[in-house]
This record gives sequence, structure tokens and C-alpha cells, in this order.
Amino acid sequence: MSRLERYRAEVLQRIASACRRARRAPEEVRLIAVSKTRDLEEIRALHALGQQQFGENYVQEFIAKCDRLSPEVLKTPIEWHFIGAIQGNKSRAVAERAQWVHSVDRLKIAERLSLQRPDHLPPLQVCLQVDLSREPGKNGIPEARLWELADAVAELPRLVLRGLMTLPAPSDDPAAQRLPFARLRELRDALNAEGHALDTLSMGMSADLEAAILEGTTMVRVGTALFGPRRPQGRWE
Ligand SMILES: *Cc1c(COP(=O)(O)O)cnc(C)c1O
Repeated sequence: MSRLERYRAEVLQRIASACRRARRAPEEVRLIAVSKTRDLEEIRALHALGQQQFGENYVQEFIAKCDRLSPEVLKTPIEWHFIGAIQGNKSRAVAERAQWVHSVDRLKIAERLSLQRPDHLPPLQVCLQVDLSREPGKNGIPEARLWELADAVAELPRLVLRGLMTLPAPSDDPAAQRLPFARLRELRDALNAEGHALDTLSMGMSADLEAAILEGTTMVRVGTALFGPRRPQGRWE
């Protein structure tokens, strides 16, 4: 068994056993392989093992990888999720390539993505990134402004508002890990009670995916547990 095969089996096993604890079906939790800093061969190898969803953080790296590992090149489906910060001048490249964007936190970026989404592609599926830490300078919309952003994004013609994403401060304590995830679930439920139809929670990474599954996540974004220790940024080629 190759290293990637072993890591993937371990992650799937962790997801399955957390789902059993949570009394959830494992199909409810999608595994997004976070492939930032990984090279094309590693991504190809993981894809060949059956992994279809990949997440990237940096726009230039995202463009290069999507273009070199398109469904046409691979001859089988692959789904690209953009999960990093988007500067306004880079939004077009994302709108043209991603199936999902998890990191929408400003109306201006959402409007650009909607305008720039090519007509021949289905509407872009988006999550709003929520900053639950209240630390200044973090990415994400503060909770207090989430309603206004959700209402506005839901109106944009070329986007589909699917859910919420969060990236909490790391914690080793399984009980503490659950708190921000529980909060994100409550926010999703509150938005749905006001007429939204959000079916996605993007929360949980290598160190806390069990906590996220117990709190109802539908997409875990996993990097190091699938690929091994992270490489320095910008060294993937
Ligand atoms: C890097 C990254 C991940 C994956 O983190 P790991 O701890 O390596 O699993 C998930 N989400 C986002 C937004 C990231 O930047």
C-alpha cells in the first residue's frame, strides 16, 4: 500500500467512526482534499485512488493546477474548491474554474464572482466564511453582519448560496473544538429559519474533523492527514 493510500484509508476510517458516534451516514460528509503546496503527481495519485474533490488556497497555484489537471486531461471528473482569500483582481480566474468557493466574506467579491461566472457553466456554489473568533484581521464576515451578506449573496444570479464555512483557532481539546462548529450550525439553522436554504457546513480539518462531524459538518477540508506534513508555500512545482 502506498503512503497516500494508507493516509486516505486512515482519514476515511476516522470519518466513518466519527459518523458512527454521531449517528450519521458517512455519505453525509464529503472529504475535500486540501492540496495546497502539493505537486501535480501527488494530486494525480490521490485522484487515481478515487478522491474527486480538491481544495486550493492560493489563486496562482489554483489556476495552474486546475488547468493542468482538468477533467479533459484526467479523463475522469475532478471538482475544484477554492478555499482561500480572494483579492478583487483575481476573482475572474476563480469564477472561471471553481465548482465551489468556500471563502466568500464580502459582497464586492461575491458580486464580481457572479458577474464573471461564464454563461456556459452552472452557477458557482458558494459558502460564506464566518469569523467566529472576533480577532481583528482574520478572514471571514463577523457574525453580526452575516445576515445582511447572506441576503445579498442569495440574490446574485450566477451564484448559489449553499452554506457556511469557518476556520477556527486550533485547539487540542475535543470539547473546545466543538464550540465554534456548534455555533456555525446554529447560524446556518437561524438563516434557514428566515427563508434561506443552506445545506452545507464546511468545517473540520485534519486535527478536528471528529468534532466537526459531531456538530453536523457536511464538508471536511483535510490537508496534512491526507498528504503528510505541509510544505512551504510556493514550492509545489
Ligand atoms: C490548509 C487548510 C486546510 C487543511 O488544513 P490541515 O490542517 O492540513 O488539514 C483546511 N482549510 C483551509 C481554509 C486551509 O487553508
